[in-house]
Amino acid sequence: MTRGMQEINYEKFQETVNECLIRHKSILDVLSKFQEASARVNRAFAKAVTSCGCVRINASRQSCPSGVDSYSELRNFMHSHLEGELCDNCREILETELGQTLFYLAAFCNLCHLSLDEIVQKEYARVLTLGQYILS
Ligand SMILES: [Zn+2]
Repeated sequence: MTRGMQEINYEKFQETVNECLIRHKSILDVLSKFQEASARVNRAFAKAVTSCGCVRINASRQSCPSGVDSYSELRNFMHSHLEGELCDNCREILETELGQTLFYLAAFCNLCHLSLDEIVQKEYARVLTLGQYILS
């Protein structure tokens, strides 16, 4: 079985990234690559809007009628300002760029002896606990 066929989790992903890390051993290199990858996600999305046109941004001030006090109700009035669906091509590009971002995130965690798995679990617990309050 090839490595790609294995069931993946954050720990395994981080270990595998660590094996590939030799070329980017400097923390400065890893951090700037991480930022670059993240900027490329922005760029890929912007291109989906302006070059491809499969998605559109239609933004205006968020507003909701007075008297709405529950989160579930409020949800109905909040807009993502995003219209349309990513086409296969733009989706693939975004997936690649997001994957690169994850790679350098894992590499950064390796160099700082942080566990991606633990970070995800702590964040998951935080989301479960705080729920709607995170969004404000
Ligand atoms: Zn597209």
